[in-house]
Amino acid sequence: MCYSNLYSIKLLRYSQDTKEGDFNLEKEKRILTGDRPTGKLHLGHYVGSLENRLKLQHEYDTFLIIADIQALTTNFDQPDKLSNDVHQVAEDYLAVGIDPEETTILVQSMIPEIAELTIFYSMIVTVNQLQRNPTIKSEADQYGYREMSYGFLGYPVSQAADITFCKADLVPVGQDQLPHIEQTRKIVRKFNQLYKPVFKEPEPLISRIPRLVGLDGENKMSKSLDNAIYLNDSKKEVEKKVMSAKTDPARVRATDPGHPEVCTVFEYHRAFNEDNLKEIEKRCKAGTIGCVDCKKRLANAINEIFEPIRARRQQYLNKPDLVDEIVINGTKKAKKIAKETVNEVKEAMKLNYFK
Ligand code: ATP
Ligand code: MG
Repeated sequence: MCYSNLYSIKLLRYSQDTKEGDFNLEKEKRILTGDRPTGKLHLGHYVGSLENRLKLQHEYDTFLIIADIQALTTNFDQPDKLSNDVHQVAEDYLAVGIDPEETTILVQSMIPEIAELTIFYSMIVTVNQLQRNPTIKSEADQYGYREMSYGFLGYPVSQAADITFCKADLVPVGQDQLPHIEQTRKIVRKFNQLYKPVFKEPEPLISRIPRLVGLDGENKMSKSLDNAIYLNDSKKEVEKKVMSAKTDPARVRATDPGHPEVCTVFEYHRAFNEDNLKEIEKRCKAGTIGCVDCKKRLANAINEIFEPIRARRQQYLNKPDLVDEIVINGTKKAKKIAKETVNEVKEAMKLNYFK
């Protein structure tokens, strides 16, 4: 039932006689989290969620969803892009150190049971609740939607289905996701009270840097805003992008005293160069380190984090079939769990008319 391959990866192969209990026997609690396949993962994802996932995958039975239907809420008009982005996100997960022996990687659209749950939950969520969601509002502004699609307005409901299909206990996410977790908790409470106590209320887990700002110094670092340092950027690209980052606008000469609290580069030092933070802060305030030197040190710190990621990525790039196999196996395992949950839900809602 096992195979050994890259990094002695052993995967339980899914077969007719596989039972849910065959997996992660010792892990009692589950994590569900994921990303929209809308592009490459970046440093915002690294501090906003990947770090926590890497740490917790050994303790929790972890599910990582590649939320391709959710990607369609904004990218429905670019069907050619999705396939590449799904592969890209899977490759990024594995490159960063997600261990397929510990973590189940799955593709949302390959599990229709998640769509079924979304429909059931949509009966117990009001349009007003969704319209009040602050993340929906700010994303609609970001995308310039004067009117939004039914699917976009409702994506927090689909996220509730993602989280509950495997009855996740914990959801490690960035700050923008908190209203969505609250929405899921509301749905769970309502469902349990109306029908049967099938679900538990999931808890969010916010990272040490809940919102990493982009290179523009204004918006959240985001795949869709072209203000990101990507996990697969080369050494040179990292150096170039760091040089372009916004700094303290009041600082003209290298000897002018700086204001680290308003500097994007200092925020990145806080996230990626903690060991040297105090020294850099002191020297910036005293005007004894210029912005160019400060940026060079930041680029070095980021490149140091990226080195092992680059090496692992290269090994997976040499075995593209392995990446596909990991995602296909993960999705099969998740589908089986989703099926059991949908059966329970249908039974609770008395939708099981025939034997
Ligand atoms: P898009 O622009 O397409 O929405 P995104 O960069 O916002 O992409 P998502 O896939 O929407 O990425 O988010 C995936 C996860 O990463 C979420 O938990 C989100 O909170 C977290 N995340 C994304 N960007 C950041 C950031 N800049 N800082 C902290 N966390 C982030
Ligand atoms: Mg987003």
